[in-house]
Amino acid sequence: MKIALTYDIERDIPNVLDTFFGVKIGLIKILKLLDNYNIKGTFFCTGTVADKQPWAINTIESKGHEIACHSLNHERLNKLSFEECKEIISINKKIIEKKCQKSEIIGFRAPYLKPPKFLFRVLTDLGFKYDSSISTRKKVQYYQTNRFEIQEFHPMDIYTVFRLPLSSFLLRKWILKKELIVLYFHSWEAIDIKSLMCNLNLFKNSSYRIDRWINTGDSFIITLNKFINEAISKKAEFCTLKQFITKKDAQR
Ligand SMILES: [Zn+2]
Repeated sequence: MKIALTYDIERDIPNVLDTFFGVKIGLIKILKLLDNYNIKGTFFCTGTVADKQPWAINTIESKGHEIACHSLNHERLNKLSFEECKEIISINKKIIEKKCQKSEIIGFRAPYLKPPKFLFRVLTDLGFKYDSSISTRKKVQYYQTNRFEIQEFHPMDIYTVFRLPLSSFLLRKWILKKELIVLYFHSWEAIDIKSLMCNLNLFKNSSYRIDRWINTGDSFIITLNKFINEAISKKAEFCTLKQFITKKDAQR
């Protein structure tokens, strides 16, 4: 059983805030946790993060993790045309490649896990090898076509549930039975979102969803730590998505 821990590295709650505390503070906590276990993860980064916080890309890369793409500034790609979408992902890839020392960028994840129908065609044109945008809840048949050589790694869209103590037991039991499970988190989950929103005087906003802030910050790190511990005790292996592709290629 293999587990891929994947993180979207982006501005804090993209459709609500325009700050980068998740990158500046949350990412450091996540990297430290992974370091403690010598686990490598996959980090889907927006072009804006690479541009505004280039140290983040360097740090992730220097610690041996995989860097992948997550659009330019967290655009809703399913609302764009083929050409607009291709342009955004192409710039995203170029910015990240420029900031990296040696990483080959082969993976992509669409913001909000909402890929456009033509995503695989765009990714093929731009030289990507895999996608991780179509959550296990919304597997769609037309993505399964073999016309494109793009591997799909369905992420488990459970990031909020993961932070709820009651559900964690059942979830862990289920997760630890899979051949490969792709868990999906965000840099901003590792900061205390409720305090941040209060400090910015935004917490009054009634449209603000509880699932975005509950058990974020240190509680998130503690939950993740518990999960990793349990997975290791059950002999699970952690891998990056790139490693999984390489392994599959070698078996052919
Ligand atoms: Zn995202």
